[in-house]
Amino acid sequence: MRLSASAAARIEHESLEIAIFVLESADMSPCQSCHAGCCRAYAVPISGADIVRIQNRFELSFWEFVYRWADPQGEIALNHAPQFFFSDEPQTPYVVCLKQVESEYFPESSKCRFLMESPPDEEHPLGVARCGIHPDRPGTCRAYPTKLDDAAELAIIDEVAESGRPCADDIYKLCPRQWEPADFDPVTTIQDLVVVQYEMTYFHKLALIWNQNPQSWLVFPQFLELVYKKRVIKSEVAESHRSDHNILPFPVQGIAPNSSAKAA
Ligand code: SF4
Ligand code: SF4
Repeated sequence: MRLSASAAARIEHESLEIAIFVLESADMSPCQSCHAGCCRAYAVPISGADIVRIQNRFELSFWEFVYRWADPQGEIALNHAPQFFFSDEPQTPYVVCLKQVESEYFPESSKCRFLMESPPDEEHPLGVARCGIHPDRPGTCRAYPTKLDDAAELAIIDEVAESGRPCADDIYKLCPRQWEPADFDPVTTIQDLVVVQYEMTYFHKLALIWNQNPQSWLVFPQFLELVYKKRVIKSEVAESHRSDHNILPFPVQGIAPNSSAKAA
């Protein structure tokens, strides 16, 4: 079917308007000149897949960016991340998170160890900050402040609180405005959320198995390495697991603590 000249011109005009709108929306992202209060205020739960990806991309050791946060009230896990138990602190449930360090420009405040800060100036009294691993950032960071609906078809934008911490420190203030649907790419946003949900569900399964026989935090990186190495298998191996009813062949037993490992 051929379009009339006027229809083609209208579509071209509308496409141009959409392109300008998308570009303006991208330019006006709330993150653009933000001090990144979200990367300072929160303990950020990560999955095993996040850990393996960041280790491989940046040649970092587990202990350089992973930290376990005690979470007796479930305020960090928030029905999103699994809680793990460890033999060295058997009564305490922990959530595996990104490590935090002290801010370079705002002493006595904390920030994600991957957050890159610029010094405060007149225009930006809290500075401007950027994620140092943005293309490889963890799923939790990628999803914020959205979540999947129950049917895993739509992204729901959560309302963002004024501050990420109860204290009055401005450095922990969050987004300068609420987020709008136009701030998000409708395809990649859903794709990211689906992957985040998948990897956290898998990490929950790991927690169930680990927690049956908790070992020391010191051997946790070895456990993850062994499990994630086995995520790609040959068909005959898959067949033997199926016949054994061994759906998740996690090598939990027999992991010796690494004497060179340092606890976070
Ligand atoms: S990994 Fe990046 S986005 Fe996530 S908390 Fe750290 S700095 Fe922020
Ligand atoms: S606090 Fe909000 S606007 Fe600022 S970096 Fe985080 S998500 Fe972006």
